[in-house]
Amino acid sequence: MRLTFLGVRGSTPAPGPDFVRYGGHTSCVALTLGSAEVPTLVLDAGTGLRALTPLLGGEAFRGTILVSHLHWDHVQGVPFFGAGDREGSRVHVVVPEQHGQTGRDLLAQLLSPPAFPITPEGLRGSWSFEAAPIGSFVAEGVRVTAVDVVHKGGRTYGYRIDADGVSVAYLPDHAPAAGVGSETLAALTGVDVLIHDAQFLDRERVVADDYAHATITDAIDFSRRIDAGTLVLFHHSPARPDDALDALAAEMDPARVRVAREGMVLEVERVTDRSQSDPR
Ligand SMILES: [Zn+2]
Ligand SMILES: [Zn+2]
Repeated sequence: MRLTFLGVRGSTPAPGPDFVRYGGHTSCVALTLGSAEVPTLVLDAGTGLRALTPLLGGEAFRGTILVSHLHWDHVQGVPFFGAGDREGSRVHVVVPEQHGQTGRDLLAQLLSPPAFPITPEGLRGSWSFEAAPIGSFVAEGVRVTAVDVVHKGGRTYGYRIDADGVSVAYLPDHAPAAGVGSETLAALTGVDVLIHDAQFLDRERVVADDYAHATITDAIDFSRRIDAGTLVLFHHSPARPDDALDALAAEMDPARVRVAREGMVLEVERVTDRSQSDPR
């Protein structure tokens, strides 16, 4: 399983000279599975989704996008996904089930006038939308497990993907300090890679709690709690420039913790040494 990080920011894109090395796009990670040459599974549809089109060699996208929740920074890329919005595409979008609404109607709250010029039906190619309950299902031939996580403003899922003998968990927006359910813990335990919310520094604890996000220490503590192999700090604050992220990376044990960067490619390997030493 290969992970390609296409957008690593939270909240809003972060353009400008101070954000060149870690990138300014919001949340999007593409997964290339088995012997496939191109990604077929995508985690979130932030503005980073735009960067998937050039990776597909001119072909239309055929695959599934798992959306963690419907905040702007996780869905804004949908109508700008060129390889999806064209003839020949097949795009299945999974969003968290809530309020008894269909997946199409949940997405249409953001993707329809007056919020946006077109509705989901205005996307070219073949699109389908699903409001999925928590639990396990098969997407693009691999096992996906959706779990509830604590965040604010609408239902939020974390996803675990098991493929090619390895596993990855994706929790871009998560406030573990507010409590973690036992089912969520059980479903995520033992993953080889954990991609986790790292929007706030420890000294920003008050804001982190206010917006139901994680601090760096929360992310590290949670990765130990679920006995994760490699922790990838993700969903960086749009106010965190490259130099500050370099400083953060310098505090971490590079064998245990990676700081997500736009364009970063991670081949997921089975982690056998899960020693509980401090990852910092
Ligand atoms: Zn977010
Ligand atoms: Zn959010």
